[in-house]
Amino acid sequence: MSTSERASTSATATGSAPVPAGPVVGVDVGGTFTKAVLTDATGTVLAEAHRPTPGPGPGVAERVVELAGRLTEELGARGPAPLAAGLVVPGTVDERHGTAVHSENLGWRDVPFADLFARRTGLPVAFGHDVRAGGLAESRLGAAAGVRDTVVFLPLGTGIAAALLLDGRPYAAGGAAGEIGHVRVASDEPCVCGLTGCLEAVASAAAVARRYRRASGRPADGAKEVAALVAAGDPVAVAVWREAVDALAAAVCWLAAVLAPHTVVIGGGLSSAGDLLLDPLNRRVTDGLTFHRRPVITRALLGDRAGALGAALLAAETATTGRPTGV
Ligand SMILES: [Zn+2]
Repeated sequence: MSTSERASTSATATGSAPVPAGPVVGVDVGGTFTKAVLTDATGTVLAEAHRPTPGPGPGVAERVVELAGRLTEELGARGPAPLAAGLVVPGTVDERHGTAVHSENLGWRDVPFADLFARRTGLPVAFGHDVRAGGLAESRLGAAAGVRDTVVFLPLGTGIAAALLLDGRPYAAGGAAGEIGHVRVASDEPCVCGLTGCLEAVASAAAVARRYRRASGRPADGAKEVAALVAAGDPVAVAVWREAVDALAAAVCWLAAVLAPHTVVIGGGLSSAGDLLLDPLNRRVTDGLTFHRRPVITRALLGDRAGALGAALLAAETATTGRPTGV
């Protein structure tokens, strides 16, 4: 068990978001780790913890609820009792009905998480989608704090999905919005979804590492290693990187044409490359637009805590309004 207590100045609530009268817990169920934060009334992180996410198989949803419940109790025991808890999960989420419709990786279908989590914790709960919650956190507390206009959060991790924030609220469309990882933008690269040439198959952190290994015949643990090779001028790494950036630029140009976002926040593992990614992406996007509004493209600030912080923001809303919330 890895639990740490860390004061944070970066996660202070801003704007006119509702402020609860006490702490709340946010839990983010990731593909590998489940992360939880306890935040105070201003959104400052008081404590956090993480544990491995239960593997797929029979009863996985119940095991996830049990883990989220234990983390909520554990963090809640570190200070005044939490007023509410938020839970966010990957896959397709129907936040209105409080259910997880589908997760390919964790293997669940139609799980009433909001009810199960409320029963487990005995608290008012919020329930939502990990990427939309991360986008909410980046727009309130992180890279797009203070931006009142449309914001897109685009985490580039194992997969790619976008959170679309309109007037400060994530736009969900019943859980179907933002699935831009599975639109054909390039090449004939096969994708896990059954299509070919998807953005995710070329530009996710996992895809960059996989494509480099295949093209070079050399090992590369992850996108970070490929980024280092790009910086060192490795021609195979440079080519793989360029294809990823071109595909991302195409996606951002489409987003600019359809949504005209003020800011696009790039997150996930690939964003740790910093300017090595953002500089060419900015150039390609500028080249790809004419009269359109050119978005500010910036790097996420909240790292792998974004989802849990977003879950805590949802919980704070539930604690304040007394109504279940979700994104
Ligand atoms: Zn796909």
